[in-house]
Amino acid sequence: MNEAFRRVYGTRPDGIWAAPGRVNLIGEHTDYNDGFALPIAIPQTTLLAARRREDGRLRLHSSQVDGPVVDLAVTDLEPGAVTTWAAYPTGVVWALREAGHRVGGADLHFDSTVPTGAGLSSSAALECAVAFAYDDLYGLGLGRPRLALLAQRAENAFAGVPCGALDQMAVACCTVGAALHLDIRAGTQEQVPFAPEARGLRLLVIDTRVKHDLGDGAYAALRAGCEHASALLGLAALRDLSPADLPWAGRTLPARLLPLVRHIVTENARVTEAVSHLRAGRVEELGPILTAGHASLRDDYRISCAETDLAVEAALGAGALGARMTGGGFGGSVIALVGRDRAEAVGAAVSGAFRSAGYQEPHLFSVAPAAGARRIA
Ligand code: ADP
Ligand code: MG
Repeated sequence: MNEAFRRVYGTRPDGIWAAPGRVNLIGEHTDYNDGFALPIAIPQTTLLAARRREDGRLRLHSSQVDGPVVDLAVTDLEPGAVTTWAAYPTGVVWALREAGHRVGGADLHFDSTVPTGAGLSSSAALECAVAFAYDDLYGLGLGRPRLALLAQRAENAFAGVPCGALDQMAVACCTVGAALHLDIRAGTQEQVPFAPEARGLRLLVIDTRVKHDLGDGAYAALRAGCEHASALLGLAALRDLSPADLPWAGRTLPARLLPLVRHIVTENARVTEAVSHLRAGRVEELGPILTAGHASLRDDYRISCAETDLAVEAALGAGALGARMTGGGFGGSVIALVGRDRAEAVGAAVSGAFRSAGYQEPHLFSVAPAAGARRIA
């Protein structure tokens, strides 16, 4: 990173920061309903070499993007001012200033092994790398959850993506060997030990390498649907509903909103159930929970697609203990929990099914819970 930074900016960086991608084990679309989620950080990481500048210029460069260095004045930053990839990192500097922190410019160079647009949160990795670097370069001492929420604000208000806090919290707060049990409303988190390898299991990621375009507007529509349902029920958020309340919700809501509500309510319950299994070391019990979560996303929330459904079916057919799509939906990645001795067969079955269907070759790898964002040099 030092050499690459020198090639771009002709000098040495002040330091290097790392921010991982994430997979969410269970708890999908629950974050903007004040609910629960259970992500892990993955070994794929975004690196940032950064040097503080005193002249108020913010310069950005990424190994993943062709083109010249982006060069802006921090005083010119406002939502809508940046519309390229640079909106995510720039938005963090804007969010810090908006929150009253006296931060100025920097030279930033990124390089990443997190696949982009694959539902593995490359955008949150980019944002959190900047938040953590600025926290150190400008001596802010903000702490991980605060930095995560500033990164989320950057994505919402500056990059224009109405996401909940899951991705940034996962990237900022996950730790090696654990899944992060998030309670979004309470703002609390618990590190729950998660060591599939120790139980002879692997967590396989299947990046389908498809991203269907309808995703962007659909996300906002789903979020609006949840908020509408919660208002009609007189609740602060769908988090306040339990599975026992579903018959009442069914009598109260228009038919089109009930499946959305059912997904959120059952998904929150699945997180709680998954956490109690993990606390007791019963990792294999996660399998049926993943598969039930996929059915709920496919049938009730309706954000699955042919490729993710096929990956799940092929993995289960080859002996996976459970599988589901992860991330916002309409493509992206599937996770599967598999016995170590079945991992190869499951991978081959998924690749074979994709070939037969005429889909692109999926990208397969297994992951273990990795470290959250941090300074590495
Ligand atoms: P995901 O977060 O699931 O990967 P998003 O659509 O939220 O998908 O974010 C992907 C976008 O983030 C990319 O299109 C690009 O604009 C930006 N991005 C992520 N990583 C990098 C990187 N290393 N360099 C430049 N841009 C990146
Ligand atoms: Mg993203």
